[in-house]
Amino acid sequence: MAALEGVAASPGLGIGTVMVIAEPCLAYEVVEVADAEAEKGRLHSAIEAFSVLTREKAEVVRGRVGDAEAAILEGHVLMISDPFMVAEMDNLIDAGQCAEAALDTVCETFAAMFEAADDDLTRQRAADVRDIKSGVLCQLLGVREVDVSRVPRGTVLVTHDLVPSMTAGLDRDNVVGIVTETGGMTSHSAILARALEIPAVLAVPDAVQELPEGAQVIVDGGEGVVTVAPDEAELAAARVRQEALRREKEALQRFVGKKTVTADGCQVELFGNIGSVEDARAVVDNDGEGVGLFRTEFLFMDGGAMPTEEDQFRAYQQAALIMKGRPIIIRTLDIGGDKDIPYLGLEKEDNPFMGFRAIRYCLAREDVFRTQLRALLRASAFGDVRIMVPLVTGVEELRQVRALIRRYADEFSREGVACNKDVPVGVMIETPAAALMADALAAEADFFSIGTNDLTGYTMAVDRGNDRVRYLYSTFNPAVLRSIRSVIAAGTEAGIPVGMCGEAAADPLLIPLWISFGLTEYSVGPASILATRAAIAGWNHEKARALAAAVMEAVTPDEVLDLLKAASA
Ligand code: PEP
Ligand code: MG
Repeated sequence: MAALEGVAASPGLGIGTVMVIAEPCLAYEVVEVADAEAEKGRLHSAIEAFSVLTREKAEVVRGRVGDAEAAILEGHVLMISDPFMVAEMDNLIDAGQCAEAALDTVCETFAAMFEAADDDLTRQRAADVRDIKSGVLCQLLGVREVDVSRVPRGTVLVTHDLVPSMTAGLDRDNVVGIVTETGGMTSHSAILARALEIPAVLAVPDAVQELPEGAQVIVDGGEGVVTVAPDEAELAAARVRQEALRREKEALQRFVGKKTVTADGCQVELFGNIGSVEDARAVVDNDGEGVGLFRTEFLFMDGGAMPTEEDQFRAYQQAALIMKGRPIIIRTLDIGGDKDIPYLGLEKEDNPFMGFRAIRYCLAREDVFRTQLRALLRASAFGDVRIMVPLVTGVEELRQVRALIRRYADEFSREGVACNKDVPVGVMIETPAAALMADALAAEADFFSIGTNDLTGYTMAVDRGNDRVRYLYSTFNPAVLRSIRSVIAAGTEAGIPVGMCGEAAADPLLIPLWISFGLTEYSVGPASILATRAAIAGWNHEKARALAAAVMEAVTPDEVLDLLKAASA
């Protein structure tokens, strides 16, 4: 039936009944206060009751989710206990305001102050202050907060925004899906949903209006789609997929803690692709051996302003610390094409995928690039950080990046700031030009990572957004496979590691080809890590090479697909 689309924020498939969480009515009457002492007493009791309730919620969250998530709520208690904040409210009450108005005024002043900050983390605190204000107002007005810990089994929560206090008691046995109208990949709601492994689709326009209370829906958190009032066939298909997902997940647990090896004992590296610091935790939770691609553009997309050097440094440093010395490949800003960031003021182009994007933009905007490279260099002192350059078309781009890195590293060494001046610098191979020049690039790059998503599009000269030609977009096309084979050969010949971070790295049909070509590193979505380890374990080199020999004789994508399917059956 009807399908709504949003941000695929937490993977999995949930089938359930919509429960719309309306915001509680917190309107209050502004009255003149005669007895200021009594009114202050009323406010302090409300703050105390709120603090007790919030600490209780934090304990529930600690048990169900984890320490980091509990800390968000504990932070609320600390914030509202701030003597300066309470004194400000008391002063307003002394001046004749009622407790509700004093609370409102002071919280809104703090929220506005946080909103004006130029770092992302401080800006986020504005939402926290407003959440605290609602919690204390509920106590003052005697309004019961929405209690999501007692919803019936099979509930899909639909709300404008899922604030931390609302998610506190959230029970993954009862809540099978979350749909919100706001939030992005790094919003609190997304972080919590992923931590609880509840499928979530965020930023669905008008979700509260479009999804009526009691309606049945399928929440596909992997695809970012909500199917409303599914018919019997859609429900049956979803149940089959759900069961298949469950069984697959269960069976994959035996690969936890294992090395990633082919059936004949050849070890490769298996990394995860991330778009935020929180995703780095998901890589660790899914037993990834490192990060093969940190898409930093998400840090730039989440806020309304450019993240400062400090914002970026903290994000890269935290991700590096979470990886605890394991490799973390951070890609420099890859915007343009389908990824627009309004405040960067990119002009409309007739052909954005061929236009001013990725490394082309960064080399032209040294101010933006300098901020990022400096943040990356500083983070390199906290782990095995490696820098990767997107959309490279030739060695001169790599040389320019290296020159900038050298310059900033020299600045840091003069200033006494710690950084790894020999930070490895690699290139993404995702243009035909880079693939054809792979031998020259391999002589100057520390590593390669093949971006099959773009390499397929550019090799086939296909705009994926164009329905008329989408049929040509296939990594199974022999042209793309030949390109990948020669890139891996060039990297191997030069003795540098060659990885793959496009979607094709996790495709079980293609994995025997990658094994036979000699790929040394696979980087996949965190949820695909164990499945990829299992797929790699299923092939030995002899079998993989025999299949690759036949496949590379094929001249159409259908022939390739038929051979690969037959071999995996
Ligand atoms: C790719 O192009 O394969 C890739 C991994 O980069 P992105 O999908 O971010 O363009
Ligand atoms: Mg790409």
